Amino acid sequence: MLDIKNLHVKLEEEDKAILKGLDLKVETGKVHAIMGPNGSGKSTLSYVLSGRDGYEVTDGSAQLEGEDILELEPEERAAAGLFLAFQYPVEIPGVGNMTFLRTAYNAQQKARGKPEISAAEFLKLIREKAAELQIDADMLKRPVNMGFSGGEKKRNEILQMAVLQPKMCILDETDSGLDVDAMRLVADGVNKLRDAGRSFLVITHYQRLLDHIVPDVVHIMSNGRIVKTGGPDLALEVEKNGYAEFLEDA
Ligand code: ADP
Ligand code: MG
Ligand code: MG
Repeated sequence: MLDIKNLHVKLEEEDKAILKGLDLKVETGKVHAIMGPNGSGKSTLSYVLSGRDGYEVTDGSAQLEGEDILELEPEERAAAGLFLAFQYPVEIPGVGNMTFLRTAYNAQQKARGKPEISAAEFLKLIREKAAELQIDADMLKRPVNMGFSGGEKKRNEILQMAVLQPKMCILDETDSGLDVDAMRLVADGVNKLRDAGRSFLVITHYQRLLDHIVPDVVHIMSNGRIVKTGGPDLALEVEKNGYAEFLEDA
């Protein structure tokens, strides 16, 4: 599904390398987790994959189902099935949440050569998905993320994912700032979307999310590279002993 080879990324504005030869392969239908200390480049990886400005790829490649996505515009990457749930979801004043979601949905339909969905059909779809995530009708009408609590913003990210049904979902610290109940809702929402045709990259600083979204593979990232790969036990080891031993190995 996702194949990243020797990815080197620096900031556009300064000569600061952030990703330094990152290799990562996520198979179709699998959930991979990336853990790692603050500042290791986890968010940068997700930003670069989604096509955010400000970063320059100096070497390496990233392919989604064999297609080089680093050459694509952000909206083309989304149409190709890539989705990023942000660590800090943005507020969009003046744009209703429901309108935003329906516009995104229909843009994706169009990019895939499929017909637009009617307002009535969309309402049915979104009500069903929102109910599963305990998002109330009021939150659907309000401007995107405006005045939402941290937990509501994160649930709204999962709602977007449930509506858009991407193939490759990247969740950047979706658990940060969530209480246990909100985290469980988010995890349940993700688990419902697990599918043989869909892959996940779950970036998290703490192990607790991985009790609820049990990954197939766990990677440790440090200083711009993946330094260790293992099974779910690796996350438990980090929880117990911290990152130090992996950083020394690296
Ligand atoms: P993580 O998500 O693992 O905590 P980040 O990708 O946010 O790591 O950051 C990696 C490193 O790159 C950090 O040292 C951070 O300060 C730096 N960095 C990332 N983006 C910028 C930026 N736009 N300007 C300056 N430094 C940045
Ligand atoms: Mg950070
Ligand atoms: Mg981060």
